[in-house]
Amino acid sequence: MITRSMKDSWGWGQSGVYTTAAGYRALQASRISRQTPTFWKNVWDPLALPKVNFFFWTLAHNKLLTGDNLEKRNIAGPHRCVLCSSNYETAQHLFLECNFAKEVWGIILHEFQIILPSQISVTELYTTWSRFYSQYIPSKSFWSKIWTAIPKYVCWQLWLARNQQIFREMRHSPLQVAAKAKSFLLEAAQQQFCKDDPLLLPEEKRWLGSLEPCPRKHLLPPQKANQEWRIRDEDDKFQSWWRSQNLSTIFFDEASKGNPSTAGAGGVIYSPDGASKDCFSWGLGQKSNNQAEILGLLKACHIARNKGAKDLQVFRDSEIIIKSLKFGKLFSNASLNKILDRLKRVLLDFDTCKFYHILRKSNSEVDQMANKGSSLMKGLLIVNNESFVQMP
Ligand SMILES: [Zn+2]
Repeated sequence: MITRSMKDSWGWGQSGVYTTAAGYRALQASRISRQTPTFWKNVWDPLALPKVNFFFWTLAHNKLLTGDNLEKRNIAGPHRCVLCSSNYETAQHLFLECNFAKEVWGIILHEFQIILPSQISVTELYTTWSRFYSQYIPSKSFWSKIWTAIPKYVCWQLWLARNQQIFREMRHSPLQVAAKAKSFLLEAAQQQFCKDDPLLLPEEKRWLGSLEPCPRKHLLPPQKANQEWRIRDEDDKFQSWWRSQNLSTIFFDEASKGNPSTAGAGGVIYSPDGASKDCFSWGLGQKSNNQAEILGLLKACHIARNKGAKDLQVFRDSEIIIKSLKFGKLFSNASLNKILDRLKRVLLDFDTCKFYHILRKSNSEVDQMANKGSSLMKGLLIVNNESFVQMP
């Protein structure tokens, strides 16, 4: 019984005195820890992209804004699943029980002849996921990492498909969602691929398809060089810094006045000692700025390779290529993805390749070369002021 004469005191401890430590302990104890430490460790596994891990972490806490959670927040419905248009949307439904989701899982697991167990939650699925295939998975193998990441990518793509349908009225087929989940996963895996990891089974090899070995030292772009990620190139310090790296060095730029429009690309390639340099301006004809961007770097890499460059550093004031290469970002445009693939293959010819984002002053040297390119006839390439017409 509460009486007026009774003094307030902290009830979760013997002393009756509140401290922050006591408050924290009480909160921790009241939380039922449903998952083992391994579960959370796997959720933050480095193979998957950080945004995918974050998404899955949110899902594991059931904090995604699915229909049921929106309703809890008093947001008006209908909170129906847009993928099947019939059931109430919960995480359980959207990611596992929905017929659309089931089809996606079916396509992903087709090679292994595994069927998802019914009546299981997403987190239960994730914790028991390795068991579905345990007898074959050598622990810590490359394949086991990919296998662990599959549920995250499938759920992530289902979530994106759901959002795109709601917010952009874009419909996807289960086949498209499965293909995207797989290709994003393989893209992430490719950056960590190590030749020596045993790929044991034919179905694993089939599933991995054309995943090509990517040497470990060829991390694209450097993942631990964040302190150098943004560099101002105005000052002399930067000039002496990049020269001191003793790497072949590319600066490049694109120029397009509209999107698409008559575009051009230009660049400068320095030898490792900085003593010799090659410049180019290239007329690209009608191209979007992203196409001009990738083609510009592709051309610079070809020139560097022909000069015998082995180790490369690339400086660019736009992050589009850096992001595309680092996060395996796929463009919605197929021809853009094609030239991005060409670029990736050319980059494999170099032993190391570092990308840096710089904050560039306008009117720099490469800016002018690119502008000159956009004024050239399509296909005309000028290298060191010797012009010749590119064969188509
Ligand atoms: Zn549904």
